[in-house]
Amino acid sequence: MGQKLKSPSELISAVTKLRFSQPVSLSPEEQIKLYDRLVRREEISAPRDRHGRTIRGAQKDYESPGVDEMLALKFGEPLNPWPDNRRAAVCLTHDVDRGPGQLNCLVRDSWYGLKRVAAKMRGENQIVASVAGYFSLRKSHIDPYDNLQRWMELENSLGVRSAFYFMSLRMYHQLQEGNRYVISNPAIRRAIREMHDNKWEVGLHARYYGPFSKRELTDQTHRLSDVLGAEIAGVRNHYLRVSFPETWFLEADCSFHYSSNMGWADLLGGFRSGTCWPYQPVAGSKLWEIPFQIMDSPDLSKGAEDLLERFRNYLALVKRHRGVLVLDFHSNYFFDEVAPRVNRVYRTIVEYLRNDPELWITTPLSVVRHLQALA
Ligand SMILES: [Zn+2]
Repeated sequence: MGQKLKSPSELISAVTKLRFSQPVSLSPEEQIKLYDRLVRREEISAPRDRHGRTIRGAQKDYESPGVDEMLALKFGEPLNPWPDNRRAAVCLTHDVDRGPGQLNCLVRDSWYGLKRVAAKMRGENQIVASVAGYFSLRKSHIDPYDNLQRWMELENSLGVRSAFYFMSLRMYHQLQEGNRYVISNPAIRRAIREMHDNKWEVGLHARYYGPFSKRELTDQTHRLSDVLGAEIAGVRNHYLRVSFPETWFLEADCSFHYSSNMGWADLLGGFRSGTCWPYQPVAGSKLWEIPFQIMDSPDLSKGAEDLLERFRNYLALVKRHRGVLVLDFHSNYFFDEVAPRVNRVYRTIVEYLRNDPELWITTPLSVVRHLQALA
């Protein structure tokens, strides 16, 4: 690939110039400390889970943006980079893990039917209850994963625009990826075009298999871009199967404008690389990493209050440091029957954000364009 990371002095000088618009002085030791956090040096030798993802270190503090705090302590508040003198930016994003399709529905109905029988036999009441939610929707002729129009209606009513990351699969990929959807599905294609025409952002949700293959990533991007009729600027990986810096090198090679993979795939979330500011880690590349802090889960019937509290804490920190808060809510958790309380939590969060005049609620691509003009 021939890509390499920026050197510590190069990266730190770009990071500080963006915030303070002039060079600031840091010792080589201080530079390395910040650099190691931004490029996730500790992850190179960290243990991995069965999906090949870094396991979050139990004693590590990701609850606050350590890099931003250290810079603020030394040099004070950063200048405000956002339009209309807003205090921080917020991006709402969705991974589209499931979609409509008659065949999909047929497979799913049979699968959940078998699951219900097995769970009933084993007395697994929780599974029986969750499957019952799915079938109650199906009885009303609703496919819970045919919801993109509903998402657009919801966000129209809330007055926001978000980013949707679509998988870009062919039929045979489903044998590997499970019950997802194909990019040739007419309902998916229509929704993608409608989103694009109405100022939602469409990005790529890179598939589970082959996350480090340039050919895989290129093929998926081309297919999605053909449907969109425009360039695909951003990418987030399904299951967050990433490894830094290899993932950045690949994304830079594939000419993405940004990646939004720097976060944790759990309800604790936080500041994985110690910053809520986007940054450009790869030498000679325009690629931005836009860290995300909050991800949902398929069931918030118990964890909703905790998640809302974390959201408010993270938002306060992002505002203090004038950064970007990025939230990831899966599009398939739209209905309460299949994802208890998730949609309600999303609406509560968006209403909270909309009531804060200090926030610029926008898409990741708008953030990147805005920062690119300042960098
Ligand atoms: Zn996914």
